[in-house]
Amino acid sequence: MAQLPIQKLYINGRYVDATSGETFETINPATGDVICDVQIASSQDVDKAVEAAKTGFKIWSKMSGTERSRILLRAVALLRERNDELAILEVTDTGKPMQEANCVDIESGAECIEYFAGLAASINGEHIQLANGNFAYTRKEPLGVCAAIGAWNYPIQIACWKSAPALACGNSVIYKASEVTPLTALKLAEIYTEAGLPAGVFNVVSGLGPVGQMLAEHDGIEKISLTGSVPTGKRVMESASKTLKHVTLELGGKSPLIVFNDANIDNAVSAAMLANFYTQGEICSNGTRVFVHKDIKDAFLEKLIARTSKMVIGNPMDLETHVGSLIHKDHMKKVLNYIEIGKKEGATLSYGGNQVTVEGFENGCFVEPAIFTDVKADMRIANEEIFGAVMSVITFDNEDEVVAAANDTQFGLAAGVFTQDINRAHRVIENLEAGTCWINNYNITPIEMPFGGYKQSGIGRENGTVAINHFTQIKSVYVEMGDVDCPY
Ligand code: NDP
Repeated sequence: MAQLPIQKLYINGRYVDATSGETFETINPATGDVICDVQIASSQDVDKAVEAAKTGFKIWSKMSGTERSRILLRAVALLRERNDELAILEVTDTGKPMQEANCVDIESGAECIEYFAGLAASINGEHIQLANGNFAYTRKEPLGVCAAIGAWNYPIQIACWKSAPALACGNSVIYKASEVTPLTALKLAEIYTEAGLPAGVFNVVSGLGPVGQMLAEHDGIEKISLTGSVPTGKRVMESASKTLKHVTLELGGKSPLIVFNDANIDNAVSAAMLANFYTQGEICSNGTRVFVHKDIKDAFLEKLIARTSKMVIGNPMDLETHVGSLIHKDHMKKVLNYIEIGKKEGATLSYGGNQVTVEGFENGCFVEPAIFTDVKADMRIANEEIFGAVMSVITFDNEDEVVAAANDTQFGLAAGVFTQDINRAHRVIENLEAGTCWINNYNITPIEMPFGGYKQSGIGRENGTVAINHFTQIKSVYVEMGDVDCPY
C-alpha cells in the first residue's frame, strides 16, 4: 500500500487540521513501513470537538428513535459495502490476518450498529401508578457528550461497540483511537456523516494518552468509556472522578478455560486454540490459563500440538495466513520476554514460542504460537496478561481445586468450561468470578449478549440491551392529580 496522506482530526462532520502542529506516525507492523502521519489534537481541538458534540447533541437527541435508527442503518449498509477496503486498512494498521478482518472486524461492528439501531425506537421509560390517581413516569434520557477511547487490537470494532449504543440512545460521541491504530475510526466518522448523522454527533480526535486524559477530565463530557489495560483504566477512573463522569471500563484479563475429563476433546482443543491464538493472542477475553483434567492431559496435548503445528504464520494479507504480525516491536519483545520468563520459571515450552522471519516481511513482528505445559498456578506466565499467543496448560484433579485456582486472580473478564455434564457445567459457571462465560465454546461474543468483566477487568457492560442503561439516565417525574397536602 502506498503511503497515505496525513490524517487530520474529524470534528463537526468534516476533517479539520489539528492546531498542535504535532503528528505521530502509524506503522504497518508486518513490514515496519510508515503508513502515514497522523495529527495530534491539542486541548483547543478537544474543546472544539466538545462544542461540536454539544451542538450535535441538541439536534440528535431530539430526533425520534426511529429517525436515529434509519440513519444508523444506512451506516451499517455502508460499512458492509466497504468491508473489503476497510479490512485492508485494518490489516495494514494492525498486522492481523485478513482471513479474520474480512469476515469479523468490520462485520461485527456493522452488526453492533444494526442491533442498537433496532433498539433505538424502543428506549422508553415507564409509567408508575400511585395512590389517588397520582402517578409518576420515568424518562430514559441520553447523557449528553460521551467520550470513548479504544485499544489497538480491534480498532473499528471497538469504535462501533462504543458508538452504536451511545448514538442509539441519542448521545453524541468523541472518539479517540489508540495511537497505534488510528485509521479506521476516521473512516467510520466519514461513513456516519455519509449516512446522515448530523455534524458534531460523531467526532474523532487522534493522539496519544494525554488526549485520552483530556477527554476523561473535560467538564463538558458526561461519560467516558475505555477499552484498554487495567493501569490505564485506573488512570481514566481517577481523571473522570474530577467531574464525576459516568465510567465504563473494558480492561484486561487472564481468563481460565477449564476442560473436564468428560469433555469432547476435539472441541476443547478447537476452543483452546481460538482462545489463545486468534489475532496472535491479542484479545482481552482470551482463555490463557487452560486447566486440563489430568486424565485427559496427554490426549489433549497431542491433538493441540498437532493442530497448532499446522498453523500458517506469514503475510497478514494472504488469506491462508492464520498468524499475522504482533502489533509492534516493543510488544513482540514483551511477548518473547514472557516466553523466556516461563522457561526460567520451570514451565515446559512444549511447542513454538520462537520469533519467525517471514520472507519479504523481515521487519515484521512474527512469533510462533507458544504452548507451555507443567505450568504452576503461581508462575508469572499464569498470572500476568501477556496479550500474545502464549498458552499455559495447567493440570488439575478435582472440581473444587480448579474453581479455586481459576478464581485466584485480580482479573475476572471471562471464563469457559468444557464438560458433557450439565449439572457440573452450570455449577462451575455459578462459582466462577467472571463477567462473560461460555459452556462448551470460547470467545463467542454475539452482540445480543452482554460483555464485560468482574473484579479488575472492568466496570459496566457493552452489548446486549443492558448497554442502553450505561448510555442513558433516568429522570423521574411525579404528577399530582389532586390538591397539595400541606400542614401549614
Ligand atoms: P492501553 O491501556 O495502553 O491504551 C488504551 C487506550 O487508552 C489507548 O487509546 C491509549 O492511548 C489510551 N490512554 C493511555 N493513557 C491514557 C490516559 N492516561 N487517559 C486516557 N486514555 C489513555 O491499552 P492497549 O491499547 O495497549 O490495549 C491492550 C489492553 O486493552 C489489554 O490490557 C487488553 O486486555 C485490553 N483490552 C480490553 C478489552 C475488553 O473489552 N475488556 C478488549 C481489548 C483490549 P494511546 O494508545 O494512544 O497511548
